[in-house]
Amino acid sequence: TSLSLSPYYNEIMDKLRGVFKLSQFRTNQLEAITAALDGRDVFVLMPTGGGKSLCFQLPALCTSGKTKGVTVVVSPLLALMKDQVDNLHKKRINALLSNAETVGEDWQQLVKSENKPDLWYVTPEKLRDSPKVNEILSILYRNQKLARFVIDEAHCISTWGQDFRDAYTALGSLREKYPSVPIMALTATANRRTVADIVLQLRLKDHASFTQSFNRPNLKYYVKNKKGESVIVDIAGFIQSKHNGEAGVIYCNTRAKCESVAASLRERGLSAAHFHAGMPTEEKEFTVHSWQKGTALVIVATIAFGMGIDKADVRFVIHHDMPKSMSGYYQETGRAGRDGKPADCVMYYSGGDASRLMSQIKKTEGVTQDSIERQVNAVLEVMQFAQNTSECRRVQILRHFDEDFSKADCARGCDTCEADRELISTNVTQHAQAALTVVHLLQSRGDSITLPQLRAILRGSKNVETLSKQHDQLQQHGHCKELPKELLELMLSSLISYNMLTNTRRANRSGFHTDYLELGPNAQELLDNERDFVLNWHRNAEQ
Ligand code: ADP
Ligand code: ZN
Repeated sequence: TSLSLSPYYNEIMDKLRGVFKLSQFRTNQLEAITAALDGRDVFVLMPTGGGKSLCFQLPALCTSGKTKGVTVVVSPLLALMKDQVDNLHKKRINALLSNAETVGEDWQQLVKSENKPDLWYVTPEKLRDSPKVNEILSILYRNQKLARFVIDEAHCISTWGQDFRDAYTALGSLREKYPSVPIMALTATANRRTVADIVLQLRLKDHASFTQSFNRPNLKYYVKNKKGESVIVDIAGFIQSKHNGEAGVIYCNTRAKCESVAASLRERGLSAAHFHAGMPTEEKEFTVHSWQKGTALVIVATIAFGMGIDKADVRFVIHHDMPKSMSGYYQETGRAGRDGKPADCVMYYSGGDASRLMSQIKKTEGVTQDSIERQVNAVLEVMQFAQNTSECRRVQILRHFDEDFSKADCARGCDTCEADRELISTNVTQHAQAALTVVHLLQSRGDSITLPQLRAILRGSKNVETLSKQHDQLQQHGHCKELPKELLELMLSSLISYNMLTNTRRANRSGFHTDYLELGPNAQELLDNERDFVLNWHRNAEQ
């Protein structure tokens, strides 16, 4: 194709194989790299794990591009930058990271030395505030030694998003200060408004845009409520009837579970092997190898399995236990059907799974309170997904990535779309008003409230948090007790999607970011009885 005719192609392929030791590009990588070397502004939207780093690391090493010199990389998290730079050093790539301590020496390396780094990682705060960094940039610019600016996690520039970072705003002036230096912006946030905002604020001009939907059309999604002992019977029956002789992965949450599930499957005549981090290296390698060549068909593994293991014809991925986060779920199910042919993803969940995960998280030693809260919220999100049987699974999964997906495009590719149950229409105006009133009351008292807290109040929960915050004293406590669970969930998510409630990420006192509810711009008309709130929903057959 025309990409292989570009003047950069040979050098690109050399670096891919020689430096990164990879054999082929993933979706949009070659396209983005070629556009960057052509000196264009580039926008890249890729799911997490899609391979964004290569899109800017590889061109940084090329000398055949229209602009030459140092690639300046701005990224929001110092820890992630350190990781990247360490990995680059392992590949013998000359990369430099500027943090508070090092700018003095950077000066030598960036300005004086002939041996300039190919990549220079800078935090947005340093770029905005450090006179030294700005002086170095001006000198490099004058000497035409700036190849391009790379803005990673570019959605941090947008106040629409949840991860807005003040210092990112200053990146808007790069174009003005260094007009001839191309800019590459990358993000995994697919929200249209945010994308438009990134382009506008970074002042990208005539940019090459590479976006992809996060939807995996060939995967079918099923979520099942665990019913005790029957899970293994269910799984064995599913494999025998739908995937006889085909390869698949079953994820379990503990090593012991991997071993026992694999053994039960073997007892039922299936070719299964277990895999987890506690096994000796040779045994792990042997297991992976026999799965890859097809002598073992089903691998029963912890999430330690999968990273860097490529097998295109995986026909099913089963979560025997509830996954820890939606991103994890997406990545693990994403290992099915890489060849583009149909594949099934089945998740089993239970309240017991969720509480086991929670207590595991809380028991972990040496982690911060913030990290614990983040992980707990991630489990709650999976639980909400599992229980929400009135919405298309794809719509829910893709919403996690800020992508607006239309249910019609699911083409009955999930359990909820397949079920196609009778649609019920219910007027929940008073319930919705109660929800808004609670948020309004707490907001006006200067208290904050999260979605799980609001749910607990409306359901009349007497859990510790509700009692300790005296939320049970509110008149609205228990106001939605009679609503079926799935209808309450739909009501809450609809209040957010109709902008009657906003769920905004903010730092709390300890600096941890949580989503807090506030009244949205459309709340008043509902509170003023100017409209009804009617929902169309499906009754959950399983409950
Ligand atoms: P992102 O930043 O989009 O989340 P990364 O750049 O960290 O993703 O890449 C995710 C993983 O995919 C890394 O392990 C990376 O080495 C791997 N990867 C990236 N591009 C390719 C490719 N073309 N072939 C195989 N693996 C790749
Ligand atoms: Zn669907």
